[in-house]
Amino acid sequence: MRRGIAVSPGVAIGTAYVIHEIFVNPDTQRLEDTQITAELANYETARDKAAADLRALEKKVDAQVGHEEAFIFAVHRAIIREPAFTNKIRNWIVEDKMTAAASLHRLLGEYTAMFTKTRDEYLQERLNDIRDVIIRLGSHLNQNPNSGEKPIDGPLIVIADELLPSQAVALGQFDVNGIVTQAGSQTSHAAIIARSRGIPAVSGVKNILRKVKTGDTIVVDGRAGVVEINPNSESLAAFRKLEREFFDLRDQLAANRDDPALTQDGVELKLEANINGVDDAQAAHAMGASGIGLYRTEYLYLTHADLPDEDEQYEVYRNIVANSPNHNITIRTLDIGGDKTVAYLGHDHKEANPFMGWRSIRLSFEHPEFFNTQIRAIIRAASEFPEGTARLMFPMVTTVEEIRKLRSMIRKAYKTLSARKVKICELRIGMMLEVPAAAITIDSMLDLVDFVSIGSNDLVQYLMAADRDNPKVSHLCQPLSPAVLRVLKHVIETCNRQRVPVTVCGEMAGKPKAFLLLLGMGLRRFSMSPSFVPSIKQLASQVSIEQAESIVASVMKFKTTAQVKRYMTRQLEQLAPNLTMLDSN
Ligand code: PEP
Ligand code: MG
Repeated sequence: MRRGIAVSPGVAIGTAYVIHEIFVNPDTQRLEDTQITAELANYETARDKAAADLRALEKKVDAQVGHEEAFIFAVHRAIIREPAFTNKIRNWIVEDKMTAAASLHRLLGEYTAMFTKTRDEYLQERLNDIRDVIIRLGSHLNQNPNSGEKPIDGPLIVIADELLPSQAVALGQFDVNGIVTQAGSQTSHAAIIARSRGIPAVSGVKNILRKVKTGDTIVVDGRAGVVEINPNSESLAAFRKLEREFFDLRDQLAANRDDPALTQDGVELKLEANINGVDDAQAAHAMGASGIGLYRTEYLYLTHADLPDEDEQYEVYRNIVANSPNHNITIRTLDIGGDKTVAYLGHDHKEANPFMGWRSIRLSFEHPEFFNTQIRAIIRAASEFPEGTARLMFPMVTTVEEIRKLRSMIRKAYKTLSARKVKICELRIGMMLEVPAAAITIDSMLDLVDFVSIGSNDLVQYLMAADRDNPKVSHLCQPLSPAVLRVLKHVIETCNRQRVPVTVCGEMAGKPKAFLLLLGMGLRRFSMSPSFVPSIKQLASQVSIEQAESIVASVMKFKTTAQVKRYMTRQLEQLAPNLTMLDSN
C-alpha cells in the first residue's frame, strides 16, 4: 500500500498502465529487415514536418510576440538538423532495428543522463529544448505514441510521474478508471483532469513508477489517498464493493441534472463548471451545471502544436460558447507561467519563483499584441450569442492600476474590431481574486469590475506561502485553515455588501466541507469540476442557510485546521451521511 494525496474522490480498480516520460508506450518491438527503409523514411518525414512546424511557429511568434522570443524556434530547428542527433537515430533504426519512436526515446534517455550530471543551469535548460524537439518529432511519427492504439484492455489505472496536457487529452480515448501520479497535488493538471472526468485519483505517491509495472492490478482510493498494488483477494473483494457503491452513487446523483439547485429552505444557488475545452463543456451540460464559471483558455495554447492566431482562437471560443449550458460562460484570459509554460513567451529562462514571477496578466502587459489578439478573439466569439451570456475574466489581478490598464486594453480591442466592422457587444468584465493584496483591498477594486471570482487554489498557496504543487508542504496549503477562512469571509461579505456578484471557482467549491462553509459565509455562486455538480446539488438540498451560517459561526472560533476538519467531518456525517463517500480527507 502506498500513500499520497487524495485529489479526486471515489474508488477504482483496474490494470496498471505506466506512462513513461513523454512517450505513452515506448515501443520495444524490433523491425524486420524489410521494414527498415520505410522506418527511415517515416523518420525523415517526421523531421520535415517538425521543421515546417517550427518555421511557421517562428513566423507567428515573431509577428505576435517578438523577435527575441521567436529565436528559440530557430534553435529548435537547428537541433533537428544537427547531424549528431539525426545520425544516432538513423543508426539505431538500421543497426539495432529499433523503431523511430523507440530511438527517440533512447536518445532522450541518453541526453537526460548526460545533462542531469551537470549542475550547470544553462545546460539543464538546453535539455528542455531537446525534450521539446523530441516530443515534436514523436508527434509526427506515423505511430504517434501519444495518440497511439489502445495499449491493453481496460479498465486502466494510469500511472505517471505527472501528466502532460497533451497526454491527458490523448487519454480521453482509453477506458481510464483511475489516475496515480508521482508528482503533483490537488491542483496540478492530472488532478484537475481527473476531477473533471469524475475519475478517482491520488497524486504525490513517492516512487510509484518504480513499484508498479504495466499489467499489475491497482486499487485507487481517492478518498483516503491510498494506492494498493496487487492486493490480496479479500482486500480486492472489499474494494470491489466500495467501487460498486461509488459508481451507484454517481449514477444515482446524475439523475438530478434537470433539478434546480436549491438549499433545503429554497434559496437558489448557481452551480457552474470549470472547463478546459469543449469536451468538458459537454460534460458540464450532462452534469446539470447552469453555466461555465471558468474556462481556462491556456489549455488551448498548451495543447496546440503552434501558436493559435486570432481566427483559430475565435473558432475554438465560439464552439465552446455554443456548447456551454445556456451559452453562459466566463472566459479567462491566458494564465500561463507558474506551473504552465510555453517557450514562445520567453519561458525558456527559469525563474527562481515562477508562481510569484512573470505569470498571467503580468506577461500580458509585456506582450500587448499577443494579448490583444486573444481579447479580440474572445469578444468576437462572445458577440455571436445573446448579450451578457459570455463574460471576460482576468487572472492574478494584484492592483487597481492593473485593472485600469486591462480596461484600456479592452477599449483598444473594441476600437480595432469596430474599425474592421466586426459585430461586437459589450462584455462584462471580471477579476479573479487570487492574490492576498487584492483580497485586502477588494473594496477599492469593486467599482472597476462587474464580478469577482475567487481563485482559491492560488489564494491559498499565496496566503499560506506553500506551493500548491509541492507535496512536501501540502499540510500547509489547506483551504480549511483558519487564515484562509477569515480572508474568504471578508471578501465574500465585502462583495455582497457592495452588490458585486462573487463566485468561488477554486477546487474547494466542489468539496462538501468547504462548500458548506462558503454557503454559510454568504456565497451563492460556485464553480467546480463538472463531475462535482450533482453531489453539491444534492448536498445543498439537505442543508438550510441557517444551518450553514451556524456552522460558520462555530468554525470561525477554531484556531487550527485540524479542528476545522474534524468538526466539518462530523457536520457532514450528520447532514449528509449519503455523501460521505464523495468527500476526501
Ligand atoms: C485558482 O487559482 O483557484 C483557479 C481556479 O485558477 P487555476 O487553478 O487555473 O490557477
Ligand atoms: Mg489560479
